[in-house]
Amino acid sequence: MKTTIHGYPKIGPNRELKKVVEAYWKGQVSKDELISKASEINLSRVKKAIDNGVDIIPSNDFSLYDFVLDTATMFNVIPERFKYIEDSLDRYFAMARGTDKAIACEMTKWFDTNYHYIVPELAGDIKLVKNRPLKSYRYVKEALGIKTKPVLVGPFTFVYLSKVYERQEGSILMKMVKASESSKFAGYLDLFTSLYNQVLKELENEGVEYVQLDEPAFVLDLSDEEVGLALKAYEKVMDEIKNLKVIVNTYYESLSSYDKLVNLPVHGIGLDFVVNNENLENIRKYGFPADKILVAGVVSGRDPWKTNLKETANLIKELSNYIKPENIILSNAAPLFHLPVSLEPEKGHLSQDLINILAFADERLAELKSLRDHFANGVDLPDTDVKSIISKYNNEAVRQTVAQIRNAEVGRKTPFEERYKKQMELLKLPLLPTTTIGSFPQTQEVRKYRADYKAGRISQEEYENFIKKQIEYVIKVQEELDLDVLVHGEFERTDMVEFFGEKLEGFAFTKNGWVQSYGTRCVRPPIIYGDVSRPNPMTLKETVYAQSLTDRPVKGMLTGPVTILNWSFYRKDIPKEEVAYQIAIALREEVLDLEKAGIKIIQIDEPAFREGLPLKKSKQEAYLNWAVKAFKLSHDTVKDEIQIHTHMCYSEFNEIIEYIHKMDADVISIEASRSKGEILEAFERFNYDHGIGIGVYDIHSPRIPREEEIEEILRRSLKYIRKDLIWVNPDCGLKTRGWEETIPSLRNMVNVAKRLRKELSQ
Ligand code: GLN
Ligand code: ZN
Repeated sequence: MKTTIHGYPKIGPNRELKKVVEAYWKGQVSKDELISKASEINLSRVKKAIDNGVDIIPSNDFSLYDFVLDTATMFNVIPERFKYIEDSLDRYFAMARGTDKAIACEMTKWFDTNYHYIVPELAGDIKLVKNRPLKSYRYVKEALGIKTKPVLVGPFTFVYLSKVYERQEGSILMKMVKASESSKFAGYLDLFTSLYNQVLKELENEGVEYVQLDEPAFVLDLSDEEVGLALKAYEKVMDEIKNLKVIVNTYYESLSSYDKLVNLPVHGIGLDFVVNNENLENIRKYGFPADKILVAGVVSGRDPWKTNLKETANLIKELSNYIKPENIILSNAAPLFHLPVSLEPEKGHLSQDLINILAFADERLAELKSLRDHFANGVDLPDTDVKSIISKYNNEAVRQTVAQIRNAEVGRKTPFEERYKKQMELLKLPLLPTTTIGSFPQTQEVRKYRADYKAGRISQEEYENFIKKQIEYVIKVQEELDLDVLVHGEFERTDMVEFFGEKLEGFAFTKNGWVQSYGTRCVRPPIIYGDVSRPNPMTLKETVYAQSLTDRPVKGMLTGPVTILNWSFYRKDIPKEEVAYQIAIALREEVLDLEKAGIKIIQIDEPAFREGLPLKKSKQEAYLNWAVKAFKLSHDTVKDEIQIHTHMCYSEFNEIIEYIHKMDADVISIEASRSKGEILEAFERFNYDHGIGIGVYDIHSPRIPREEEIEEILRRSLKYIRKDLIWVNPDCGLKTRGWEETIPSLRNMVNVAKRLRKELSQ
């Protein structure tokens, strides 16, 4: 049995890629320097695979920004608005980031991961302008003298994730729609299959042995028609290909329509055996084509836990009942870029218990090698028992509380209308109350103080005094702007999940565990390894101090359980929902402390609520049900008079709006300005009868919104949402903005609210 890998992290062990690309953007390094540094990072990845004994080494899986964007540009998929840029590299970055003349291409989540890709806009003269896989193959061969397996996004997935222009109904205007939902899908797929065929022919002529086409879209719920199109497309992709071994790789979920798609006319199929048992079940049920290679994804590319190699060896043994061992290639399942590069820098930083049970990308290479050597030479496999180490961190009290609510209804007893009435009487707020989402500009100075404190360069007292000054300032600003519900500004928080994770038991933080989120942006997800509990209050001090400075209500600000979970790595020994309940129970204690301290409004942010949505529709309802339950659990013991807010900031509300309603928050604030009313459409169709703050301007841009724009959004909302339910706020937190635009923007917002308020009460 041979081994292969794919999707090894591109960012470099110390985020070298981020640093050099950003330096290039700032004009600090030349294009040649960028290219040479990037090649060095790329080749060091290849060498790492060689050194770790990987048999079939990938190429073309490195990227300066995004691999979907790389695929688009090799086929000349370049929107008209960027054609004025001559230099192809600068044009490439411009498509991702926008320029003052051309707005950036849309960026969106890659399947159910926290990676984001640049959405291709299919139009114009689509043709093969650069055979990237071939270039990569040659490059590595010349540099290191080895033959590699080029990896490329497959034609079905590429077209499926693209957008196309379609004429709007009853209008001459064109708008962009998802290719997968457009009548143009089959046409574009057909076009791309010929281009891919050309790519493969050139690779075959070069004497390439393996090529991998990634088709994660094959795990989605495809219609029979789409499955038919996929099979037909691959007939054409493979036309006249004889010696080149084409492997279609799938991951993140089990292959859909297994009995059909497993028979794609290619040499090999890659399946994910880590995510669940479904691919294995299908092999048991339908077998596996005798003439094909199975690329078995047996170690995780998404979870940071060591693989239980003995169990995995049993799985492989079972697979070899169906597939000849020489036809099995062992691989990682999901691409490795969802993991940090290496555990090495964490030694001495994380506890020894954690070091013993974690595995990042480099450790996956070693695991694959152990498995191969085990089957080749009978080398013993180590015992790894992640479970028993994790169980050292069990918390009986937490377990009992979870057991009590596991099958119980949770949520507030009094219905919304009654609660809202009591709350509004107590709060004495006018119609269309104004507020913000929580954070205020985090200036250089704020960031420096936080960093100095963390590094021990200033004392706790100095730091706390500084934060107090910031709170005093932001309260004064909000009073002067005449906002109705104030916030403390969140100056003490670098990151809305990290801040809470650091104060909760059961969370660990790496020193260098960076994972690419998009382009040069990397995040360091917390690792939830043990039972979660809250030893001490987390937000009380700042909130209470802010409230002491003003007569207006100050909102307590918490990050919700579902968001904390979805933005972390989490343990796999208990169901995901139980981890959510544990976090919710910890937050519930905080909510009660805030209540006791006299805080009357508490906002529990859930911007990542939708991110955990399973790819397969049949699994979505169960997720949404427990996610709603976790959210409700986080505050269901407060008094009716306490107003619970939540905040979400993405646009795809339509399919989950029913569940958002079930969350039963007294007030929700949502994004509405960027999606140009798409969200409003959802609320037009669904009778949303709880408090709702429509985001009246886009905080992602420094532009100051005009009063007319704000007014238009509010007037539109007033058409189908009861006026006493409407709140007025920006569409997200203000921490990335500067003070110079924040104040005039909020002033315009308050002006409009006051004007409409007067009009409504006449
Ligand atoms: N309260 C957070 C803030 O204002 C919400 C951030 C978010 O939605 N991502 O920064
Ligand atoms: Zn937001």
